[in-house]
Amino acid sequence: MTLHHEDVQRAARAVADATALIITAGAGMGVDSGLPDFRGDEGFWKEYPPMKTLGLSFAAMANPVWFRGDPTLAWGFYGHRMMRYRRTVPHPGFAMLQRWAAGTEHGAFIMTSNVDGQFQRAGFPAERLHEVHGSIHHLQCFADCGAGIWDGSNDNVTVDPASFRATPPLPRCPACGGLARPNVLMFGDSGWDDTRSAAQEARLDTWLQVLRTRGARPVVVECGAGTAIPTVRAFSERVARALGGTLMRINPRESAVPRATSRWRLARWPALWRWIRCFPPSDPEALRGTAGMGHRRWVRPGGFLVSTRGPCHAAGRTGTGA
Ligand SMILES: [Zn+2]
Repeated sequence: MTLHHEDVQRAARAVADATALIITAGAGMGVDSGLPDFRGDEGFWKEYPPMKTLGLSFAAMANPVWFRGDPTLAWGFYGHRMMRYRRTVPHPGFAMLQRWAAGTEHGAFIMTSNVDGQFQRAGFPAERLHEVHGSIHHLQCFADCGAGIWDGSNDNVTVDPASFRATPPLPRCPACGGLARPNVLMFGDSGWDDTRSAAQEARLDTWLQVLRTRGARPVVVECGAGTAIPTVRAFSERVARALGGTLMRINPRESAVPRATSRWRLARWPALWRWIRCFPPSDPEALRGTAGMGHRRWVRPGGFLVSTRGPCHAAGRTGTGA
């Protein structure tokens, strides 16, 4: 996979000219923070070996039926993830996006299918975030007693590392004392309380309307969103088309973009993070920050982000990507 120098320059110009940043992200965004993207059954079972023994795929496990039929298994899976995401330090790509956003008139808004809370951990403001599938760090009553959604940061779950089952006591509803569940949209999930996510979406819609009325020049930076569940990709394309913005699809495996139209300037820059430190920002503070990144090997070879070495101008001539 090769990155062409012109693409790097075009990408840098697009971000430099942008007056708003629309950041969209799927599971690939977390890979360089050391988080699994649960790609394929084998990828899932590598992280959760007991599920292989039980013959359970990710989709089978991510189902509310387990909270009714086998709560310690359900909370073993979600509790393990919740505690892991809490401990995870977001990779430096998050800080880079923040610096870009700080240089734009309208700032950034994030739309993500990830439930891991990594954008908040990285310091993005909660009011500029739409978590389309909810958040594992928020809980709701499994019996839907009317308690609503609460912050689960005080709920701790201990998981047996051999069986991946949670050790009681399990998180409980503060109102009725019944079993709690994460406020995450699961497969076959009719009980998900979408109140919080819907409020986030309303804020996003309002912000997009502001961009439209003020003639903003947005760039949509899409990070690690796959085709298996295309919610994020579809949103990226729709919003780029609607606002006449540039879409940057950063994805080492699935970087194809729809055909460009005159109003819709699309980029096909796979594994694009390589050029991030080559971006010539107008903000001197941002420039210092990105220059410093050039000497850090914070990315995994073959992973979502591309390993970087040497001076910026080399970015276009060498390319490894995925
Ligand atoms: Zn309750």
